[in-house]
Amino acid sequence: MTAFEAVIGLEVHVELLTQTKLFCSCSTDFGAAPNTQVCPICLGLPGGNTPRLNKKAVAYAIKTALALNCQVAQEITFDRKNYFYADLPNGYQITQHFHPMGKKGFLPVNVAEKTKNIGIHQVHLEEDAGKMFHVGDILSSPFSRVDFNRASVPLVEIVTEPDLRTAEEARLFLQKLRNTLLYIGISDCKMEEGSLRCDANISLRPLGSKELGVKTELKNMNSFRAVYRGIEYEIERQTGILQEGGTVIPETRHWDEEIGATKSMREKLSESYRYFPDPVLLPLKTDTKWLEEILYSIPELPDSRYKRFTEDYGLPPYDAEVLTSSRDLADYYEQALQTYPEHKNLSNWIMSELMGLLNANNMEITACKVEPPELGDLLKLIDQGTISGKIAKTVFEEMFTTGEKPEKIIREKGLTQISDEETLLKIVDTVVTAHPGSVEDYHNGKNKALGFLVGQVMKETKGQANPRLVNKLLQKKLSN
Ligand SMILES: [Zn+2]
Repeated sequence: MTAFEAVIGLEVHVELLTQTKLFCSCSTDFGAAPNTQVCPICLGLPGGNTPRLNKKAVAYAIKTALALNCQVAQEITFDRKNYFYADLPNGYQITQHFHPMGKKGFLPVNVAEKTKNIGIHQVHLEEDAGKMFHVGDILSSPFSRVDFNRASVPLVEIVTEPDLRTAEEARLFLQKLRNTLLYIGISDCKMEEGSLRCDANISLRPLGSKELGVKTELKNMNSFRAVYRGIEYEIERQTGILQEGGTVIPETRHWDEEIGATKSMREKLSESYRYFPDPVLLPLKTDTKWLEEILYSIPELPDSRYKRFTEDYGLPPYDAEVLTSSRDLADYYEQALQTYPEHKNLSNWIMSELMGLLNANNMEITACKVEPPELGDLLKLIDQGTISGKIAKTVFEEMFTTGEKPEKIIREKGLTQISDEETLLKIVDTVVTAHPGSVEDYHNGKNKALGFLVGQVMKETKGQANPRLVNKLLQKKLSN
């Protein structure tokens, strides 16, 4: 049986975080009542309004191209992509066909502990279409509604080279891309709200062959999981066809999350749309000073931050990967370091306690009530012996819920660690008298017994005893 290799390229559409649309001053806010954020320009109505290009959208597209290591165009031009569909009021979409904003870039992705550079074919700026609402199933819908609030919202489209080979690589690439776009702040990248949408071109070829097979385009994948499952399904489907000697039909297919399968939408007749340079939007030269400003506005990106976290802070790769997986989380870590410069200890706390509570409450780090320096203060109190690590977890939960400072919670709840020898000795005496069996075990060389006795003292003091001191006092008592 022939072994096949999948060849996958992604087309990712990202809605830009601008206040207004690409050529008019209509709002881009998500979730408004249908057709309330529209005007004659974005509705394509006749009447002498001239489109005015949104400068911020252009800057965001250039920023994206630079962050993805692309060559940036010297001149910005726009073209009309002509086709008919009910969500496109002008009968054409304004895009950049002949001279995209960025070309020949790449994004490094970690695949199975190796770095693989995924080629970026191009990055271009374009306007979005309206949104269709189909009644019932998309393929048998009796009628559809259309909301033009989304018409002409600025998008960047990022087109990869066909460098991806598996569903997992595609998922990893998309995560890395999303993280990078969030770092540079051009989009909120919410897949569930459609501000990041991903289509995949998938074909198979016999392993070792250089030629490309017939591809299908897969749409409607609204989560990382859907991207993974959709591509996985499509690879399996095409493998089945080819192994039985059949041919793959070039078509657009729709991922159906509920049934977990792709369905044919329409056959791809040809790739050629009609494009014309836009006669109204004149070419715009990018001036060097402006480009430099955009370049300097790009923050440190995930890879460089990862490198610094492992090399300068000495964090294990896993910690660095988790902490730099979001810019906000990495910022939080570095701000907390200012008050508590114990790199690994701080990382442990953020990854277990803080992220544990965030996940349990389905919260983002930006909504966290604990300010980074206060987490640092809490950890200092453990190191100074004021509270035990166990009590600190209780205090932290309280900080997380109320946003109170650690000192205040400790004072008000009387949680200070007991480090007074005399007080502890009394409890040690009681515990030793109450558990003669464990004392005997200890004398017979069973070290576990000591742990049990320490545990009993901790229990008596509701976790407030200084465990190191209890250990010392117990050993001393038992050696008498
Ligand atoms: Zn408008």
